[in-house]
Amino acid sequence: MGNDQYTFQDPTKRYPQISPPKQDQPEPGLDKTLEPQTDRGEQSYRGTGRLEGRRALITGADSGIGAAVAIAYAREGADVTLSYLPEEEEDAQHVSRVIEEAGRKAVRIPGDLKDSAMCRELVQRAVEELGGLDILVNNAGKQLAVDKLEDLSDEQFDHTLKTNLYAMFWITKAALPHLAPGSTIINTTSVQAYNPSPTLIDYATTKAGINNFTKGLAQQLAPRGIRVNAVAPGPFWTPLQVSDGQPKEALPEFGQSTPLGRAGQPTELAPAYVFLASPESSYVLGETLNVNGGTPTP
Ligand code: NAD
Ligand code: MG
Repeated sequence: MGNDQYTFQDPTKRYPQISPPKQDQPEPGLDKTLEPQTDRGEQSYRGTGRLEGRRALITGADSGIGAAVAIAYAREGADVTLSYLPEEEEDAQHVSRVIEEAGRKAVRIPGDLKDSAMCRELVQRAVEELGGLDILVNNAGKQLAVDKLEDLSDEQFDHTLKTNLYAMFWITKAALPHLAPGSTIINTTSVQAYNPSPTLIDYATTKAGINNFTKGLAQQLAPRGIRVNAVAPGPFWTPLQVSDGQPKEALPEFGQSTPLGRAGQPTELAPAYVFLASPESSYVLGETLNVNGGTPTP
């Protein structure tokens, strides 16, 4: 592998500044048709055995950030269950293949996480197929930009909260009986938790909630030896952005206002999720690790 995450390089230049053309995909978008394509680590993530033998469940694992985390976990030695929507089968199969090429097991379980029964079934099946569970990554998310509150439908508000908050609650609750001391839970929050965009009222509200859920639950589960943390990405180029996650006119400048001057590529998030999943972060609990190109956070 030539250029991997350990190659000494200038972070402003590790990836080019992108100027994505205006494009639209129905929700949920696919990585397969995203322009430009992203780096989810297929050619660039080098594992060093940091998660040997671990069993992980990752939601939203077919594409974007979840896909990059799934690939990294497999290269670090973990077996992975991928949760995603049925429409995303092609993306999920791609990630499965990369996991299997790393010599690890990939289990694909499509289903809608807005349904509590599906969330419970997902955990049950992941535990059965992997023979247990040590790492849970609650990463699935819904983000739809709407200019005016009057145009934010009750249905969208409900679906955003169900996908981003309720599913995290349902899945975590179902997973807990299976998590032995040493297990870890990692939730994907966002820079939106502190810097909400005026067009993302419902979404940003859930991300602040995820931060709070993480910090409270981390204290509750600490005596049981289960660590809970969050990762807060800044602007990462993923299918979420082109399925109405951003206003169309914002796409060409996506990520350029960060101090680094460019959008992040999904694989640049993977090491944060690996660190928080691995015992090397044994004293890190209730933390939100910001990976956002330099935007100040509280
Ligand atoms: P993505 O579209 O690749 O991933 C989101 C995934 O969520 C989808 O692949 C889909 O499988 C899953 N999902 C959505 N609704 C679902 C449902 N009802 N049931 C089951 N699965 C569902 O985009 P991404 O950017 O990689 O997003 C991953 C996470 O990162 C999300 O929580 C998002 O809020 C968060 N995030 C992204 C950015 C960014 O700039 N891309 C920034 C901050 C936070
Ligand atoms: Mg997807």
